[in-house]
Amino acid sequence: MQPPVLIVEDDIKLARIVKAYLEGADYRTVHASTMREAQDRIAEELPLAAILDLGLPDGSGEELCQTFKESGDFPVIMLTAKSSEEERIAGFALGADDYMVKPASPRELVCRLKAVLKRYERGSSSSDNVSSFNQGALVLNSLRHQISKDGAPVAVTPTEFKLLLTLASSPGRTFTRDELVSRALGYQFEGYDRSIDAHIKNLRQKIETDPRAPEFLKTVYGVGYLFAGEPDAL
Ligand code: CA
Repeated sequence: MQPPVLIVEDDIKLARIVKAYLEGADYRTVHASTMREAQDRIAEELPLAAILDLGLPDGSGEELCQTFKESGDFPVIMLTAKSSEEERIAGFALGADDYMVKPASPRELVCRLKAVLKRYERGSSSSDNVSSFNQGALVLNSLRHQISKDGAPVAVTPTEFKLLLTLASSPGRTFTRDELVSRALGYQFEGYDRSIDAHIKNLRQKIETDPRAPEFLKTVYGVGYLFAGEPDAL
C-alpha cells in the first residue's frame, strides 16, 4: 500500500475538496485538522508528502514543518493565506518544497504535488541512501524513510523504520532487545524492552512473505533479533 498524502487543514470544507482531488488522482489521503493530530498521524505512518495549512488552531504550521523534517524526509507543500514575500521566503527556509497562496486551485495543487514528488524521486535516488537485499526483494531508502517489498511500497511507522534500519545495517549480527531499544527507539521509548517484540511482529506482517517463517527478521532465542537478508552487490 502506498503511503498517504497527509492533509493538514482546519477548514474542513477545504480539506474535503483537497482530499477529493487527490483521491481522484489516485493518492491515498489522511487528514488532520490540528497540529497535534498531524503529529499523531505522522507517528502512525510516514506520509508520501504533506499539504500543510499554515494557520492552525493549536500552533503554527511553520513549527509543524520543522517537526515534519525531523520525523522523516518527505516533501511539504505549504498552503496559506499569507502572501508577502518575506513569509514565502520563511516557508522555504523551513524546508517547504512548494508554496501556494489561498484561494488555491485544487487542480494546480495536484500538479504541484506530482512535480515535488518527481523532484524528490530524482534527488533521493543516490545509491548512498538505498540498501537492497535478496535480489531487490527488500529495499530501504534511509533518506526518504521508505521501504519496498517486491517492488511495492510498504507503509511503516517511524519506529518500525528505525528498528529495521538498525538491524539491516549489520546483517547477521544479533542485537539484544536493550540495544534495539536504545538504538532504534531512543527517547521515544515508553515501555519495557519487550515492546520491541510488538514492533518486530508488525514489521514481519509487512515485509515477510510468511511472517511465521521470517526470511529477514529472525528471532535469536533468549537474546534478541538479527537481520538475515543478503545485501545485494552493485
Ligand atoms: Ca487554517
